[in-house]
Amino acid sequence: MSLRQNFLDITKQIESVAERVGRDGGAIKLVAVSKTHTAETVSQAIEAGMSVFGENRVQEGEEKISVVGVDSAEWHLIGHLQKNKARKAVQFFDVIQTLDSVDLAKRLERICEEEKRASLSVLIQVDLAGELTKTGIAEDGIPSLIEYLQTCNYLKLKGLMIVPPYSANLEKVRPYFRRLREIRDKIRKNGGFGNSSGELSMGMSHDFEVAIEEGATIVRIGTAIFGAR
Ligand SMILES: *Cc1c(COP(=O)(O)O)cnc(C)c1O
Repeated sequence: MSLRQNFLDITKQIESVAERVGRDGGAIKLVAVSKTHTAETVSQAIEAGMSVFGENRVQEGEEKISVVGVDSAEWHLIGHLQKNKARKAVQFFDVIQTLDSVDLAKRLERICEEEKRASLSVLIQVDLAGELTKTGIAEDGIPSLIEYLQTCNYLKLKGLMIVPPYSANLEKVRPYFRRLREIRDKIRKNGGFGNSSGELSMGMSHDFEVAIEEGATIVRIGTAIFGAR
């Protein structure tokens, strides 16, 4: 298995789906999801041309980022962030994709100040399926979270993220992506993203093509790049 070949294949697929729906594939960010893989593999991925990585656990990410180097790539936290890991997350990650409560936002904001961090990009993880075991904020909780974020000096809201319920039938997944885009459009219209146009982080190895059709601007791909975990 060649990381470089997988990376080129995925990039090509992203571009061809984007082109099919009249979008610019070059504007879609590929987050290589390196969870469970070693720091050495991440270094090889960087050599193969990848520059943005997603980790779902703070501790695992910290270990890898310390070895690879925080400035060697852009690091996204894509897994649930527990409050007691918030400081480490602020110290090591460039983007937190899983903001899902006002409490967590308040803590991140305070820690950014304490750590003298200039700013921290966040995405709100939305739970549109009402899955109690999953993380993410329910749609009706979004307005108050955004209201709080607009008062923040450090947290910068860049967009929304979703992990829909798994289905092999992609047409069952599509409505979640579509709904997230509608929510994004509404927030954007109300100025909720400041001078950013509002990212949509959606789509993984098995469903990124549908996600791009529905407007994804960030896809998070692990298996199709690094192989099965
Ligand atoms: C693991 C993970 C991915 C990548 O999944 P693959 O199916 O391996 O591409 C994407 N997003 C999140 C939140 C993940 O936890």
